[in-house]
Amino acid sequence: MNQFQHDLSQVSAFDGADALSKYRKSFHIPIIDGKEVIYFTGNSLGLQPKGVREAINQELDDWAKWGVEGHFHAKNPWFSYHELFTAGAARLVGAKENEVVLMNGLTVNLHLLLTSFYRPTKARFKILCEKKAFPSDQYALESQIKLHGLSLEDALIEVGPREGSDIIATEDILAAIEAHGDELACVMIGGVNYYSGQVFDMKTITAAAHKVDAYCGFDLAHAAGNIPMQLHDWNVDFACWCTYKYLNSGPGSISGAFVHERNGVDKNLPRMAGWWGHDKDERFLMEPGFRPIPGAEGWQLSNAPVLAMTAHKVALDLFDEVGMSALREKSLKLSDYLMFEIDRISAKLRKGRLEIITPREHDARGSQVSVVAHGFGKALFDQLTKEGVIADWREPNVIRMAPVPFYNSFEDIYRFAEILEAACEA
Ligand SMILES: *Cc1c(COP(=O)(O)O)cnc(C)c1O
Repeated sequence: MNQFQHDLSQVSAFDGADALSKYRKSFHIPIIDGKEVIYFTGNSLGLQPKGVREAINQELDDWAKWGVEGHFHAKNPWFSYHELFTAGAARLVGAKENEVVLMNGLTVNLHLLLTSFYRPTKARFKILCEKKAFPSDQYALESQIKLHGLSLEDALIEVGPREGSDIIATEDILAAIEAHGDELACVMIGGVNYYSGQVFDMKTITAAAHKVDAYCGFDLAHAAGNIPMQLHDWNVDFACWCTYKYLNSGPGSISGAFVHERNGVDKNLPRMAGWWGHDKDERFLMEPGFRPIPGAEGWQLSNAPVLAMTAHKVALDLFDEVGMSALREKSLKLSDYLMFEIDRISAKLRKGRLEIITPREHDARGSQVSVVAHGFGKALFDQLTKEGVIADWREPNVIRMAPVPFYNSFEDIYRFAEILEAACEA
């Protein structure tokens, strides 16, 4: 039975009973024409936690006060700054502390990890990903393949949805892994698809890759801070994520990386090396001969970009305070309600149709809901924008929305539904 109605009093009751509703006040909600927008693009750039400005000022003050001595005397010493993130990041993605590190940008980390985990040989040279992967991932894979002197035709396997669907069946991925088994070096998939919002079964895919002796990793750009994960227990070999989407850490902010503990101590794994990945006790001896720190930290190249990381510290602390399971519970209820409203409006339309392409099962999606607006053009989206809805439009007619449990309310969705219905009828 459907638990939802288009009813403001029901919606207010949901917000009233929501233990996370108080966190909305911890974020800056953009205001346009004197009104708070309905912000559904936390999957693209999360909103700013209010604590960020003060935290960055702290680092600026310490820099002003100490200069280089801030590496050791700042309130949060910069020498070991990245270690402040270890426990929170490990909890966020279900890892052990020696399996995670914050460094670089996402695509940079993807390259660093592929350098270690995509090591094609004559017999085993293929890499498998999802079709229509996020462009940066496609470019990364393409250039890695070319770097090894191989061609895309020979080395890249893309698994797509079946005819008439936008969802990639797990069994099709498993079948492809098995079919290319002996020639497969690596599987690298976006853990949550940026377009459809589909969550891939990372545990099952990893097991299938391991069965044919391939490494398996995930780009978690749309997964981190969106869905709970157990990367360690799932046996994932490597993963990386950005922190500016669901993790609310500011434009282009620092990226996270995961290397499973069994790989982290594998000294035979080749990698790009830099001084920050070198044995901490000997880093400043400045001697030749790279000896990596065991664990994910051993993939670091450079010293920490403290100012960018500070925003992530504030944001990650909020995740740690609330925990992924409470966030997930609210996220599913928000997106269930959003789906209800879209279906309700679609059923009443005299022309056109709103088709939800995101899987409906909870296991197969995060907070994002992607909708194909059949029979509508960009004018519909422009009208939503005009009415204060910030969502995402993909040509020719897809609207992506991600109600975020930290700062979106049930009333946001109710108000959105009123605007959408009017816009569809106009
Ligand atoms: C957002 C996103 C990126 C962006 O990469 P950056 O290096 O952070 O600019 C890459 N891959 C995926 C899957 C994404 O969703």
